[in-house]
Amino acid sequence: MGMSLNGEYQKHYKVIIIGSGPSGLTAALYSGRASLNPLIFEGHQPGGQLTITTEVENYPGFEHGIQGPELMDVMRKQAYRFGAKSVFRNVIKVDFSKRPFKICDEEDKEYTADTVIVSTGASAKWLGLESEKIFMGYGVSSCATCDGFFFKGMKVVVVGGGDTAMEEASYLTRHASEVILIHRREEFRASKIMLDRAKENPKIRFVLNTVVEEILGKVDNERKTVTGVRIKNLLTNEVSEIECSGFFTAIGHEPNSKIFKGILDMDENGYLITKKSTTETNVEGVFACGDVQDNYYRQAVTAAGTGCMAAIDAERYLEMKEYEEQLRIKN
Ligand code: NDP
Repeated sequence: MGMSLNGEYQKHYKVIIIGSGPSGLTAALYSGRASLNPLIFEGHQPGGQLTITTEVENYPGFEHGIQGPELMDVMRKQAYRFGAKSVFRNVIKVDFSKRPFKICDEEDKEYTADTVIVSTGASAKWLGLESEKIFMGYGVSSCATCDGFFFKGMKVVVVGGGDTAMEEASYLTRHASEVILIHRREEFRASKIMLDRAKENPKIRFVLNTVVEEILGKVDNERKTVTGVRIKNLLTNEVSEIECSGFFTAIGHEPNSKIFKGILDMDENGYLITKKSTTETNVEGVFACGDVQDNYYRQAVTAAGTGCMAAIDAERYLEMKEYEEQLRIKN
């Protein structure tokens, strides 16, 4: 990959969309239908977080659910039908201080745009342990549906107490012989239905009031394997070890907003700030939608909804600018 849909380079666009989850692709669909020929920067995970999930049961319109990757595929095709194009690269730098806005991708290609829609989403959080980095991809993962298969018949650990942790733990029981869910408290953030489902699963063992201090493993030449975790019970301060071959973090997400630091207003956690009931950022002509500006709802359908809003906001902004330009020429 790395090419745009039809391989040709066009520098200027009326609308450039950064991010390709439900919000970005919906923004592409709407701006495509408004004949604005948008360009979508899809990044390295085209389709976003839904492409690393399995069944989506709560996206309206699919009575029997739909697979996440399939949903994103269909959304992309729907946007392409109306003239949207994709580039499968990351944006590494933006300049919103002058018009047209400048966008630079990882291959140093420069693009310009009259409006930009930021839909860069959020990514999984990590505990921040050194051992996590060492064994990343060698037994350490944040995506059960991507990597669960590698742990057939083995023991795995999942860390977290929210819906993601319940979902990951339940999913992993399809492959693993046992799933040990480690959570730092006794109360859960997870919804009752998902918690109950996990609790009823005989393959899931709950270890509560406990934190993971280190992931244990072996490094032989180039081969790395996870062998267990060192844990600490927060009530008794007792330190012990649990044997496992896989380790999955499921402790929430952080917004992908680093490249906008100092350029777009964000809260202390990095979520972009939009004006109430719109997708407008502090820079006129730059709009934000989806999980990068929403730490509360975080649903595919709400992301798609704000993607639609961003496209409409961009369209109206462009119309207004065109009208102003006509008035200027007349006078
Ligand atoms: P949440 O923020 O809901 O939960 C994060 C969990 O991780 C909490 O239990 C938290 O513990 C724990 N945690 C955070 N940091 C650490 C740390 N450093 N060490 C140990 N534990 C830590 O995130 P989720 O990703 O679970 O869910 C996000 C949103 O997505 C929610 O709204 C959820 O409902 C939704 N969702 C819905 C799904 C569905 O409906 N199918 C599936 C997945 C997510 P503590 O509670 O102590 O803070």
